[in-house]
Amino acid sequence: MKGTVSVIGAGTMGRGIAEVSGLAGYSVILVDSDEKLARLGMERLISNLNREIEKGRISKDSGDGAISRIKPAWDIDSINGSFLVIEAVPEDIKLKQKVLAEAEAAARADAIIATNTSSISINALASALHKKSRFLGLHFFNPVPLMKLVEIVRGMQTSDDVISSAKAFVLDIGKTSVAVKDSPGFVSNRILMLFINEAIKTLEDGIASKEDIDTVARLGFNHPMGPLELADLIGLDVCMDIMNVIYLQKKDDKFKPADMLVSLVNSGKSGRKSGEGFYSYKK
Ligand code: NAD
Repeated sequence: MKGTVSVIGAGTMGRGIAEVSGLAGYSVILVDSDEKLARLGMERLISNLNREIEKGRISKDSGDGAISRIKPAWDIDSINGSFLVIEAVPEDIKLKQKVLAEAEAAARADAIIATNTSSISINALASALHKKSRFLGLHFFNPVPLMKLVEIVRGMQTSDDVISSAKAFVLDIGKTSVAVKDSPGFVSNRILMLFINEAIKTLEDGIASKEDIDTVARLGFNHPMGPLELADLIGLDVCMDIMNVIYLQKKDDKFKPADMLVSLVNSGKSGRKSGEGFYSYKK
């Protein structure tokens, strides 16, 4: 029997991390702030797994097995038997520090505590913890069941054995890890956000239409989708927040969110989830 993983935050990322861990044979505690949210997260996770069974991506046995191993919870003390706790609450440093401190207090003494932050400094988050050597970043990608990469982000005090255990876990859930130092945006968002921001500035400058800018990336670089389509998928608000975090830390204007991105977010257009971003998704 494999051990228990706890995931705190049953949103987009937390559900995905719980799903792949359950499918790999781990018992999973999926925690959200109250009973309603935890149960809602679990319902969405089950419907996602059922969709994957219908599409033939996983067998019914594997899907049902995963569902039986994942339990929703809303009391932080329920994480106390887990060897690994992964925090996936919203990208807000104060909230994450609070949740991580509560998780450390509730978890068993030798638990590894990880954060799925996309851009916040691992060392800044570690300041909320006593056992900094047992803390690291595990940066999964969206949608977690499909995306193969996990950035393993080492904080200044993360121990070698925690890094090795994290690597083994990532491999065991069928993902590939890369080792990354704690630096704004890590590797992925440092490159991606600059790419998206430059695509928006190219649109602002009237160099080409949004469709043609995206076509350049799809047909010219063999990317599965263009940068503007991808920004809509990630969420324009999420992109803007990540750029601001990197910009504030690196103090480099190239990371400053483009004016068009800021005005789209300010007018409530945050991409696919709001029905409109660079493109319209209204039915
Ligand atoms: P989300 O808003 O979908 O989910 C966050 C969940 O955390 C919600 O269910 C919320 O109720 C819950 N939550 C809030 N406060 C809590 C608390 N105190 N205790 C327990 N649960 C609490 O957000 P998301 O998109 O899943 O992002 C989560 C993290 O993953 C963020 O740090 C984000 O930057 C990172 N991330 C997101 C993506 C992405 O594409 N969405 C990709 C990689 C990393």
